[in-house]
Order: sequence, then structure tokens, then C-alpha cells
Amino acid sequence: MTVLNLLARRAETAPAARPLPTEVLRQRGQREVFCGLTGIVWLHRKIQDAFFLVVGSRTCAHLIQSAAGVMVFAEPRFATAIMEERDLAGMADPNEELDRVVAQVLERRPDIRLLFLVGSCPSEVIKLDLSRAAARLSARHGPDLRVLNYSGSGIETTFTEGEDACLTAMVDLAPVETATAPHLVVVGSLPDIVEDQFRRLFSAMGLPRVDFFPPRRAADIPEIGPQTRFLLAQPFLGATSQKLEDRGAQPLRAPFPFGAEGTTAWLQAAADAFKISPAVFNSVVAPGRERAKRALARHRETLQGKSVFLFPDSQLEPSMARFLYEELDMRPIEVGTPYLNKELVSCEISRLPSGVVLSEGQDVDRQLDRCRAAKPDLTICGLGLANPLEREGLATKWSIELVFSPVHGFDQAGDLAGLFARPVTRHAMLGV
Ligand code: SF4
Repeated sequence: MTVLNLLARRAETAPAARPLPTEVLRQRGQREVFCGLTGIVWLHRKIQDAFFLVVGSRTCAHLIQSAAGVMVFAEPRFATAIMEERDLAGMADPNEELDRVVAQVLERRPDIRLLFLVGSCPSEVIKLDLSRAAARLSARHGPDLRVLNYSGSGIETTFTEGEDACLTAMVDLAPVETATAPHLVVVGSLPDIVEDQFRRLFSAMGLPRVDFFPPRRAADIPEIGPQTRFLLAQPFLGATSQKLEDRGAQPLRAPFPFGAEGTTAWLQAAADAFKISPAVFNSVVAPGRERAKRALARHRETLQGKSVFLFPDSQLEPSMARFLYEELDMRPIEVGTPYLNKELVSCEISRLPSGVVLSEGQDVDRQLDRCRAAKPDLTICGLGLANPLEREGLATKWSIELVFSPVHGFDQAGDLAGLFARPVTRHAMLGV
């Protein structure tokens, strides 16, 4: 098992590509994406008193350690309980081993308030029941410590699905709602600096109460119920969204807050739900929107008219394609995504130009053939594809940077555009 999930080729069930939004090219075959463990890299920074214990192999440990770029002596809030051959062969009781490792972790880190047991391919294969382990450990170490579990296994999840699985588990800890008036919850892990920017905007609009989920501290998980109106900050949170709706919360659907227009439309959805007057909304939003537009103008000179091909990776692809087309005048050729939740991204794909190919899933060899034939000016793809495509003369952008960098909101719009402009500029300077 490697970090990349290389699945066996299966029969293709693809209809011919057609203009949006009615037809989607669906393919199944070998795919190249990270597994859901990757989400720990940004989640452990977000929830400051949480700890992520991966129950996995040395490969899993290596993935997290190298992706997070954290030195082992820096005491990060994640670790891997490595399953040895004795565990896999059934010669040791993995539950006893796990309890022992958890006790060690808690002795060393008594400040932990929320512990996630994160499943992996090896723990899936031996059918280790982490939900029972979480319940047992919660009873043993609670109530100050709460233990949850979710799967980041490459068998079950891709890349950003890890955050979705983590937040879905966390919904169980959300207190029963006591609010008698509507309140807003922003859902999706955002860097603190971006969260603070949004908080200031909502506050200036006069929204009575705004919470963020996940919170910075486990004790601050917001209450969820019929008075909750929630805005997704990330398009890959389909399961979390469904679970919030099951608790009675109402979703506010909008484009995602990328760029000047995406951010404005996202904020507008909240303003409409809370009946903020157009005058107030415009006065609060206009300065940031203008700043974002000015920042984008610099990069539009580089990107205008350039074609772009997006391989499936983070599920951010429809949102990025909308941003690149609508705000930077690029020409999307194919927009791939591992999964297409039309309900969540309909506001994005309805704004794409007709004729662009929207593809779900992956048969990587066929997709590479389409990419080579299209000769895009910019290819957005995972790490495993970027170097070979660069070697073939294509300019590429690693899509992983879109989840590792602050890219939401007005004040990050220029940085987001810069991520795409840099490889195009470098390519031109090298004269490839
Ligand atoms: S969970 Fe699976 S795919 Fe991910 S690093 Fe571990 S073994 Fe590899």
C-alpha cells in the first residue's frame, strides 16, 4: 500500500461529454489521489486541544509526517499507533495495544480534550472496531476527554473526505440547541486569520451570533438544531452537511468564498437569510470586494485567455474552475472532481461556460490522453502527475496547495490567483 491509492481498472461507464450542466463524464479506473488521512495536516492546527491518533502502518505515519512537515521533536498533535505484524497476524490483542498507546499519549499530553482515533487501510483490513474503542476510551478517560473515531483509510476515502468524516463524527458532540432565534454556523476548517476576517464582516453586518465549526477548542462546538442556518466554507462536506440537516439545521447554498465574486455571493446568502438590508450589506462588503478585484487585476493580465485543465483531487475543482473562468477570464477545458455533489456545487457549475467537460471519478490514463490532446496552458493536478506532465512541457499547479494555503475570502483572492499565475509565468520565462 502506498500513499497514492491505485485501484484496479474497472469497466468504464462514461457517456460522451456534453455541455453543462446536464451531462457529466463519469469514469472509473486507476486513480491518483491522496487518502483521507491528509486532512489531519490542517485539522490538527485548527482544533488546538485535539489530538489525532492514526491507527495504521509505517506508511501512514510517513504520509502524515512528511505532508505536515513537522519535526518529530515539535510535539505535534498527531501520531500513529503503528500496527506491527503481531497485530495484523492476530497474535496480539490490538485493543489492549491501543489502550496502552492512548494512556501513554494522555500521560504526555494532559491538555488534550478531544481525541480522534483515525482508521486506516490496515485497521480496516483487520476489522478493528474503532467506534467501540472510542466508546470504551471515552468511558475510561472522560468526561474531560472525549474520544471520537472516523476513517481516513485510502480504501474508503480520498484526500478531503477525511475532513468530512472528521466533522461528521464531531456533529455528535454538538450540544442540543437552546437558541430561540436563527443563528449562523460556518462549516469547514478555515485558517484562524480567515475565520477572523469573516467574523468581522458578519459582525459589521449585524448578524446576532456566528459560530465556526470546527471550533478552535473542543469545548466551543456550537449548538445545532432547527434555528441553525449553516454556510459551508468548503465544497467537500457533503456527509457533514447531511448530518447537520438531520439535526434540523438549514443549509444556505451559495458559491464558495473564493475571489471577489464568490466571497460576495457567499456573504450575500447569509445576509439574505438574516434579512440584512442591501445598504448595510453593500457598505460592509464593498471595501473588501474592491480590494479583491484590484488584487485579481494584476494576475488577470497573466491568465486571461489561457486554457486550464483540472484533474480530480480535492473536490475544490468546480469552485476553482468557476473562479478562474469568472474572475480571471481563463478557459476551463475539463473540470475533474473525485465526487460531484451537484447540490453543493450547483451554484458553481451553473456559472461555468457551456461546452466545458465536467468529469467525475477518474481513469487516469484516459484523462492524461485528453489532457495531452488539449495542450492546456495550465494543468491543475496532484503531486504524482505534476512532475511527469512538467517533463512533457505542460505548466502545472499542485492542487494540494489549495487546501494547505489560506485561499478563502476577499483578502486572500490575490494570493489564490497568484498560485495559478506563478506556474504560467515560470513556464513563459523558461520558454518551454
Ligand atoms: S491509510 Fe492506506 S492509503 Fe493512506 S497512507 Fe495508510 S495505508 Fe496508505
